[in-house]
Amino acid sequence: IKWTEGRGWHDAQLVPYAPLSVDPANMTLHYAQTIFEGLKAYRQPDGGVATFRPEENAKRFQASARRLAMPELPVETFVAACDALVRQDKAWVPSSGEASLYLRPFMIATEVGLGVRPANEYLFVVIASPAGAYFPGGVKPVSVWLSEEYVRACPGGTGAAKAGGNYAASLVAQAQAAEHGCDQVVWLDAIERRWIEEMGGMNLYFVYGDEDGGARIVTPELSGSLLPGITRASLLRIAEDLGYEVAEGRVSVDDWKNGNADGTLTEVFACGTAAVITPVGSVKSTRADWTVADGKPGEVTMRLRKALLDIQTGAAQDTHGWMHRLG
Ligand code: PMP
Repeated sequence: IKWTEGRGWHDAQLVPYAPLSVDPANMTLHYAQTIFEGLKAYRQPDGGVATFRPEENAKRFQASARRLAMPELPVETFVAACDALVRQDKAWVPSSGEASLYLRPFMIATEVGLGVRPANEYLFVVIASPAGAYFPGGVKPVSVWLSEEYVRACPGGTGAAKAGGNYAASLVAQAQAAEHGCDQVVWLDAIERRWIEEMGGMNLYFVYGDEDGGARIVTPELSGSLLPGITRASLLRIAEDLGYEVAEGRVSVDDWKNGNADGTLTEVFACGTAAVITPVGSVKSTRADWTVADGKPGEVTMRLRKALLDIQTGAAQDTHGWMHRLG
């Protein structure tokens, strides 16, 4: 779907997958006016297909657009575009289980010009790719590298938007994580370098206590520089449904390290569209290394994971009306 100044959104087309051609002076290439989303379509037990909370992705896409001085796409148009692609590619939605069809809606500037200003022509596109189960051999905790040298986002920046530039800013730290033998980066706040923000592509949750004694679950509050994950928001509800005490708050590196040392912090997990929930095992940083709960997937983590996946795959009742059915 194209957007031009004065004309708005027009020319919606469903076309076979093909390269996009760009002018060397395309403004996106130079000034990174690019935003995206990620969501999944799951096969349902009756053979139908459903996407998970696409309106939430549409709303976040609008918020990203506002922050990047791009035009907002109506929620209904975003959802209809995803629906049209899923219907066309229905045969590519895996037949059952955690495997899914991953959708990647995105928007780029298409205007040609070398001046730094918001463009006056844009293109919104949705592409799709089948995605296997994230953990085909069983859930395995990830290891993380605390990035103390670099920050991903800062107050007043674009961290709360799903903008390409945030990911560009994260690549050096991701490479450092790999050099230290870690799977993922954990970002700290930009000012004090003390508060936990999020992981490279997932939000974080901290579990205190256990199933028997009544677990308390905390996720870093939306600071303005971390992404408001849709999985994060959904888990706040599910954790409450399951009777856990759940809160958004500030979690410091010391809370993580000390809670681990004195045993009050029992589980840490990350959540996002791709992995749904993944336990976090070991932590490395320039200051210290530690491993939460022997690095094994925790009981609360696995219970929440199952509860959310059961809703997405249709194994449990969708009491919140989160599944968007496509027949
Ligand atoms: N944080 C970042 C930086 C991400 O890229 C993602 C993935 N979209 C998330 C968090 C999790 O968001 P969601 O649950 O909406 O996938």
